[in-house]
Parts: sequence; structure tokens; C-alpha cells
Amino acid sequence: MIPEYSDVRNKMTKPNSSSEAIKRDGPDHFIRDIINEDLTSGRVGAVVTRFPPEPNGYLHIGHAKSISLNFSMAAEFGGRCNLRLDDTNPVKEDTEYIEAIQEDLNWLGFKPDGMALFASDYFEQLYAWAEHLIEAGDAYVDDLDADEIREYRGTLTEPGRNSPFRDRSVDENMDLFRRMRAGEFPNGAKTLRAKIDMASGNINMRDPVLYRVMHAPHPRTGSAWCVYPTYDFAHGQSDAIEGVTHSLCTLEFADHRPLYDWLIEHLPTPCVPKQTEFARLNLTYTVLSKRKLMQLVQEGVVEGWDDPRMPTLRGLRRRGIPAAAVRNFARDIGVARADSLVDYGFLEFCTRELLNQTALRRMAVLNPLKVVIENYPEGESELLEAINNPEDESAGTRQIEFSREFFIERDDFMENPPKKFFRLSPGREVRLRYAYFVTCTDVIKDANGEVVEVRCTYDPASRGGESPDGRRVRGTLHWVDANRAINAQVRRFEHLFTSENPGAEDDLLSALNPNSKTVIEAAKIEPILASDPVGAQVQFERLGYFSVDPDTRDDLPVFNEIVPLRDTWKKIQKSQN
Ligand code: ATP
Ligand code: MG
Repeated sequence: MIPEYSDVRNKMTKPNSSSEAIKRDGPDHFIRDIINEDLTSGRVGAVVTRFPPEPNGYLHIGHAKSISLNFSMAAEFGGRCNLRLDDTNPVKEDTEYIEAIQEDLNWLGFKPDGMALFASDYFEQLYAWAEHLIEAGDAYVDDLDADEIREYRGTLTEPGRNSPFRDRSVDENMDLFRRMRAGEFPNGAKTLRAKIDMASGNINMRDPVLYRVMHAPHPRTGSAWCVYPTYDFAHGQSDAIEGVTHSLCTLEFADHRPLYDWLIEHLPTPCVPKQTEFARLNLTYTVLSKRKLMQLVQEGVVEGWDDPRMPTLRGLRRRGIPAAAVRNFARDIGVARADSLVDYGFLEFCTRELLNQTALRRMAVLNPLKVVIENYPEGESELLEAINNPEDESAGTRQIEFSREFFIERDDFMENPPKKFFRLSPGREVRLRYAYFVTCTDVIKDANGEVVEVRCTYDPASRGGESPDGRRVRGTLHWVDANRAINAQVRRFEHLFTSENPGAEDDLLSALNPNSKTVIEAAKIEPILASDPVGAQVQFERLGYFSVDPDTRDDLPVFNEIVPLRDTWKKIQKSQN
């Protein structure tokens, strides 16, 4: 069941209180409350946030939630939000991703304050701070390798053991750390660790690794470094360098917060940022983990990061989902402290709500069946007026050509219809949108008994689809004139997975939906559609919203289904069966 989202939204959104000078957007949440308190108590003067992606994949709709939160809090409180690329692991990172992240953020409609920032720009400062820890006896060089470190670390129920190298002198540590930097040791031979507490109940506090030797060129610093800081060491310190006041991150970092605070406390940082965690976005029928998305791309399950079925920002964009719909979605799902699974239907709702206002209405027939009007003069045609967008008068009208032959949707005709089928069938009269009332008089079948053509008569007095004498017809069909129709390819989509929470499956690929993409090779579209540019979003009347795919060619327009209309049809069909 898809809930009535407009109701949910009304409940979530409180009107702005007059005491708040700043524009508020979206539902109430605890992070706004925390920021308000921090401003009132004077802990911070101005709000500074950041969005800190690691450039090891493309942004997805989960990131949109984080982006929306960080940028909106800064905007609401008159502060600033940085884009910081957390590029501390050169082995997994690539300039391809750095560029894509900036492009996608721009598409989504958020502008960082100033240029993109990079954790790698702080390597020298971070290194100096590592030496500061050594100097103070708060860090040591360890010779244990990764496996040994894991073994010494203990478990959730057992304390860890001190490394035999834990009590090296400050001088020895300093010497070794400098030689690590100078490249004297191979990968993995030595690490720098914080000297905290191997018996801590929080495993993150058991002498976490701060630096590792990695002889790998970095996309931005080249071969300048062969030691790189870990996420834990780089992240909070980068926040501090930038003057970040509120370091908003997802719940999996809650256990790292004591370490975040410990490092800030033990270093002469210019300010004291505070970390607050919120629930990450999970969306039904898809996965939002870069690793799993990467798997889909690498194993060829999808055609790339921008496949219209992907929850990446590029995928959504190629699908034709407007950036504003993603922004509204990210804002209106709210911010909570506990993880939850958001219904994909809510993204569809946000998309429809927006496109209903903006998308021009057009007619297209996806599965064409030819109809011939026997009493319409051969060789003649006429122009009829059609409304471009009933939600927007300024979108005006257009002329569409009508003649003796046209296409309707195969589904809109049944030779032996059940009760309550109000579309075309022998003897029944229906309205053609913007055109005429037509009555089916005959069907023509091929050798296999399949209907290949329908014959009708029309009532010339019903021009424009108006009833001439008050008689009613129950069905209104969309159609495309046979002489003017253009062939198009239309790609329709379903969820990529059949499981509501595919990320929870042991084998992700076992939950794939084999029907997630259907290609219709010879749809018939109104000629005006052929001149729409790539990315244009239209409504195909009675079907859904579609957008022009970049694969489109002069001789073959290609459309992606963005989202179907709310389907009252299917419901009626189901209730008949
Ligand atoms: P993934 O699990 O997909 O690899 P990540 O957390 O490693 O994601 P980052 O590039 O480190 O990806 O994320 C940048 C920011 O976006 C982080 O602050 C992270 O907490 C946030 N973020 C990532 N995924 C989500 C999500 N699903 N919902 C909300 N925020 C997210
Ligand atoms: Mg991460």
C-alpha cells in the first residue's frame, strides 16, 4: 500500500514560527533543534556544514539526502556548506569520480560555498598533527601487520592486548614515522596508531590506526606521499581545518564519535566541530551502497552508472526524473535517528507531482492497432486543437492531424470484452481524445485469428470530442494519426529487484527482476515529439511520463519511461478478473 504522501507531508511540516527569522524548508527534525540550541547557547556563531563524499563511486539518491540536509541547514541558518572530497585512499579513488561528483551535485541544484575542497590538500597539516600526537606520547609506530592488529584487537566481549611495540620512546616513534614518510618501508610493514586503550569497550578506541604505508600514486598529490591518513584521522581534522561546526554523518559512524572527539581534544585544532549522526536513506527495491552498485555495473547487470534503472543521480537524471523532484524527495523524507526503509513509491509521487505541473501532454501509442474510419473521406485530413497542459494555461494548444486511419493501443480494443470494459469493442462507441466519437463496426483478422485492423464509423457532429446531442460515451482513447505518426523506441522500466530489501539478500543478484527493462521498438508518436531535445520530459496521455534518452537519433527518437500515471485502469482490470 502506498500511503497518501500529501497527508504525510502535511503532518510533518509545521508552519514557520514567527520567531525564526530564517526561511525554513521541509519537516521538523532533531538536527535543526540541535543547531538552534547551539546558536542560542553560543557554542557556535555561524553554522558551517560540509558534504564529504569519498571519490570512489558515483553519487546516489542516499547521498542526495545528506546533500540536502547539509546544504539546507547551512542555508536556513545563513551559514555555509563545503563540498569536500574525502580523498585519502588513492587505491580506490579516481579523478573520474571527482569530476562526476561535482557535475551531479551541480545537476541536483546545490552550490558549495566556493571551490570544491579536498582532504588531500590538508595532508601536510594532518602529517604535522600526527607528529604532534607522537610528541605528546599519544601515538606510536607499530610493526604488527594487518592480521596481527586484528588478532590483538580482541572482540566485543574480550578486551584487546597491547602491541609489543606500544611502548617505544617518543624519539624512536618520531624517527620511524619520518622514515615511513620517506618511503623506507613497504606497504603494510608499519602503521601509526593512536595510544588510547586496548581494553576500551568501544573497539574503535583500541589504538586505532591513523596512518598506513601505501606506495600508490594519488590522483591529486601524485607521488608526493607514500603514507596516507585513515578516514578516522583525516575526517574530523579536515572538519576542524575548515571550521565545520556541525559534522553530520550517518549512523554507522556513531561508534566512531568518541574517537572523533578524542582526536580533536588531543590536537591543537583551530575549532571544535561536533559530530551528529542521522539515519541513512534506504529505498525499497534498490540498493544504496557504492560497492553493490559497482557490482551491478561491473557484472553487466545494468548498462552503466547512468542506466535509467540505477538509483545513482546520473541514473535518475537519464531516466528523466527532474532534479527538483529529487530535492523535494530528499527534503520531505525527513531526518531521523533510526534507520528505515523508504517506499520507492514516494520518489514516484514526488516525480509525478512535479511533472504534472510542467510536462507537456502528447499522444503516443506503444502497442499500435490500426483503425480505419469507413465513412471518413479517403485522402482527406483535418487539424484538431489539443491542449498542451491542462495544469498550465500558458502552455497553450497545438494542432494535431486527423484522417481516415490512425493507431490506438492494442489494449484499448477487445473483441469479446468483459463487463465494465468501456473502451473499444464491436458495436461500442468511444471518444477519441480531441477528435470524434467513433463506433466499431468490424474487425479484420490475420490467418492466426489475430486482430490486425479495426473498422469504425465516426460521427462528424462530435468534432473536438464533444457530444452532439448529450449522449454519453464511457471511454476516451488516445490515438496517433497513421499518416503522420513517427516510429519511436520506448524503454519501459520496472524495479531492478524483486525483493523489497535486496541489500539484505545473501546473493544480491538472485533478487534481480528479469523484466526490469522492456524495449518497444515501434511505438507510434505524434510528429511534434520528434523535435524534443534530449532530456525533455513529456506526458504520454493515459500512459505516463517519458523523457528523451541520449541514444535518440534523427531517424529514431528514443524515450525512457520516467514513471507511469497513477494507474486506475489496471485496478479496474484487476477487479474484473
Ligand atoms: P556507500 O555505503 O554507498 O559506500 P559511503 O557512506 O561510503 O556510502 P561516502 O562517499 O563516504 O559514501 O558518503 C558521503 C556522505 O554521504 C557521508 O556523509 C555519508 O554518510 C552520506 N551518505 C552515504 N550514503 C547515504 C545514505 N544512503 N543516506 C544518507 N546519507 C548517506
Ligand atoms: Mg564512506
